[in-house]
Amino acid sequence: MDTLVILGATGSIGQSTIDVVKRHPKRYQVFALTANAQYSQLLDDALACHASIAILHDESVYESACAYAKQIGFTGEIAFGESAAIAAVQHASVTKVMAAIVGGAGLKTSMAAVQAGKTLLLANKESLVMSGALLMDAAAQSGATILPIDSEHNAIFQCLPKEFTYGDLIQSGIHKVLLTGSGGPFLTRSLDSFDSITPEQACAHPNWDMGQKISVDSATMMNKGLEFIEAKWLFGLSNDDIQIVLHPQSVIHSMVQYCDGSVIAQMGNPDMRTPIAHALAYPERVDSGVAPLDFSQLNDFTFATPCQERYPNLYLTLAAAEQGQTACTFINASNEVAVAAFLHHEIGFTDITRINEQVLARAPHSSAHSLDEVIALDEQARSLATEAVQRLTKC
Ligand code: NAD
Ligand code: MG
Repeated sequence: MDTLVILGATGSIGQSTIDVVKRHPKRYQVFALTANAQYSQLLDDALACHASIAILHDESVYESACAYAKQIGFTGEIAFGESAAIAAVQHASVTKVMAAIVGGAGLKTSMAAVQAGKTLLLANKESLVMSGALLMDAAAQSGATILPIDSEHNAIFQCLPKEFTYGDLIQSGIHKVLLTGSGGPFLTRSLDSFDSITPEQACAHPNWDMGQKISVDSATMMNKGLEFIEAKWLFGLSNDDIQIVLHPQSVIHSMVQYCDGSVIAQMGNPDMRTPIAHALAYPERVDSGVAPLDFSQLNDFTFATPCQERYPNLYLTLAAAEQGQTACTFINASNEVAVAAFLHHEIGFTDITRINEQVLARAPHSSAHSLDEVIALDEQARSLATEAVQRLTKC
């Protein structure tokens, strides 16, 4: 039996994870669930999953959370703050950690899980974008396994040969890794109307039901840029090893093209419970609750290349990937600030790229050698982005 910590349990990935876990009570037990401030959802789930600890990041909800726990009869421990989440992932009984916190806020807990040698089920792609070298080095040192939850990376992982040599495509007989993306809700919207895009429109993804931040990132295709960097770290790829392919139907979740001309694709309905169940049970397979693909209903299967005019944020992120780790840390932090400002109706949709461009131009050439240095770079980029938001809102 595996003992789990689910970080970010109240979010989209967290809830899908709980759904899969509940289907297999003999395989998985939950040690701890964490959330930012959503105490009622967290405690309801902690009670239903028989979790030993429920952890809230936001200490200001302490009294309300304790009162609610009493009301529903949750008798487990309630803890607060990031240090409590770190202690939970390091707990001796824990075997697997689902990293489903959104954004840079997930970095320290991802790192703690890896340093403790746990199996890290990584949804929090921002950890790798901010600090790929340190996270992969820590995994190599501790012997931790990182399994991808992001549907594309989980697909690539499934399509790679069993004897895949990390970072060596030629040795593995691979020509290219094909990273697919739907193109988001604005695939065909006229470019001259992009200034009037609202947060509600940007969050209405045609195929996937996700948290707000990743939904906006999918609309700008920043998400695919972050995934490009994530794929580089997970599989040891160079920029030229990866090709981004638009596939609006989101049925193929990514592919591996071999040197003999074969292409292996992983397909399925767009439901994150498939990659979650795959990584949870790996190398076995378990029921995820996802309906099988019905090929009689699949009319179109189309592919294209994302154009720079429509998706400038994607190309900016690819430029950051070219520049190196510090640029990736910078653009990730800037994007988080810009997306939050857009979601709060403070700036327009096209301002997100403008801000990211300005902040990326200020990325230092130095590189970070410790987690503290990564966090300092992240904070520096966040304050530059906040200033850029303020300049725009004053206009
Ligand atoms: P979400 O916004 O739905 O949920 C985020 C979770 O993180 C919530 O439980 C929230 O309480 C918690 N959280 C937020 N801020 C926090 C903080 N400062 N400290 C501690 N906890 C905090 O997000 P999501 O869509 O589930 O995405 C989670 C991660 O998974 C992201 O990194 C995203 O890129 C990745 N991902 C999501 C999907 C998807 O389908 N939703 C697919 C692939 C990858
Ligand atoms: Mg993805």
